[in-house]
Amino acid sequence: MRGKLVVGNWKMNGGLKQNDALLADLRAGWTGQEGRALAVCVPYAYLWQAQAALSGSPIAWGAQDLSERPSGAYTGDVSAAMVAEFGCTYAIVGHSERRSLHGESDELVARKAEATLAAGLKPIVCVGETLAQRDAGETEAVVLRQLDAVIARLGVGVTKAAVAYEPVWAIGTGRTAKPEQAQEVHKLLRQRLRKADKAAAEVLLLYGGSVKADNARALFACPDIDGGLVGGASLKADEFLTIAHA
Ligand code: PEP
Repeated sequence: MRGKLVVGNWKMNGGLKQNDALLADLRAGWTGQEGRALAVCVPYAYLWQAQAALSGSPIAWGAQDLSERPSGAYTGDVSAAMVAEFGCTYAIVGHSERRSLHGESDELVARKAEATLAAGLKPIVCVGETLAQRDAGETEAVVLRQLDAVIARLGVGVTKAAVAYEPVWAIGTGRTAKPEQAQEVHKLLRQRLRKADKAAAEVLLLYGGSVKADNARALFACPDIDGGLVGGASLKADEFLTIAHA
């Protein structure tokens, strides 16, 4: 049976003092539930803080990106092995903000997913179409192209990843995909994963894009949606915990 997973993506937000309060509130409010996992992906600078605050709790932590390279003269980059040293479980790769603002290609995202796995971490691979692509009827082609690049690179290793469907038009816009729209794409992704490897049908598929306390339950009730990747609402302990309990 597939479990459930809710992951917070803090993006480039936070500060030592406010993180302390948020992490303490999360720790106090999430005692853990069988088959249900909760995690936060924080800026690199705060990985040590997440580790200190969450060690020994049922809440995991991770990074929001990492380099596809192991080490060397790559100023500003951070390797998967470095991230792993902070006790991380997850690393997000291929977030649409990385793809659009940093020009990350499908192949680069796949190499990052490979580096994540090689360091013993679980990649959360993001896929999703822009509004223009949806309006042009290209949703299916876009998300499958993005997923196929990762399948081609990881092979059977894809069974160890999680995939987040995040329609770009729903990220940070307050405009959430309708549960039936999200389910349609999740079903498609699961079919593709199953075709690649029977065991890959069990890969956790998260929905992301303006998930809030008041829409999480309907989204997470869809048969192929195994949880969520939550941006803005993960910065408020109460709201994030309500989403996690949904
Ligand atoms: C995200 O950052 O992955 C995200 C889904 O953001 P938001 O929940 O704010 O739309």
